[in-house]
Amino acid sequence: MHTPDATALLQVWERGLHASPAARGLLLLGCAWPGLAAGTLACAPIGQRDAWLLSLREALFGNRLQCLGKCPACGERVELAFDTDDVRAPHASAGDECEPWPGLRLRVPDSQDLLALEGLAYGADAELHLLQRCQVASVDDVALVMEKPQRVAASQALAQADAQAEVLLDLQCPACGAAFQQRFDIVLHLWVELDHWAQRMLARVHVLASRYGWSEADILRLSPMRRQAYLELIGAPV
Ligand SMILES: [Zn+2]
Repeated sequence: MHTPDATALLQVWERGLHASPAARGLLLLGCAWPGLAAGTLACAPIGQRDAWLLSLREALFGNRLQCLGKCPACGERVELAFDTDDVRAPHASAGDECEPWPGLRLRVPDSQDLLALEGLAYGADAELHLLQRCQVASVDDVALVMEKPQRVAASQALAQADAQAEVLLDLQCPACGAAFQQRFDIVLHLWVELDHWAQRMLARVHVLASRYGWSEADILRLSPMRRQAYLELIGAPV
């Protein structure tokens, strides 16, 4: 993995401002694994993608994570702090399949599948669409149609085959004691952090450029320590 510098991170942030979550995930991977082709990244299972993004998050912002949840029973906000290792799970490799029952083979979903789901019309049956996309074709295949129990079984089989793709956090409400689970989405989490980082960085560039007349590129090339030192010298918040 290559840890992107401030210039590369700001480029990713700008390109992803109006992008979908799946596209943002690929933008983040692209800046940290520049040696891998875009097609390889797009075809990586979601669990593999999320394992990579956890590593990128560690390199950029450290191992400690904080999440906010909302108690479904009383509406209280619930905070949870944990380490990246706490949300690591086995992940699938490209080409991995599962067999929910004899005769049905499904490959694990990847970013291309998520991009396709994001393009569906409002109200479309995304779950069935995903299962149909992931059905491994054979000569006698017909379009996959499933009743609810079959869908649940198929989705569970996919989740087991790529556990990192769906991480559930166990939370307990401090107000009413209710226990509940909440999905942890590393793309969403990392993008929010990147957005906050970018806003702070642009503010620092503005302060230093206004004071010293340096270009944005010059300021971004400074090490974080030297940027901070100059901001302290002029009495600006760091
Ligand atoms: Zn509660």
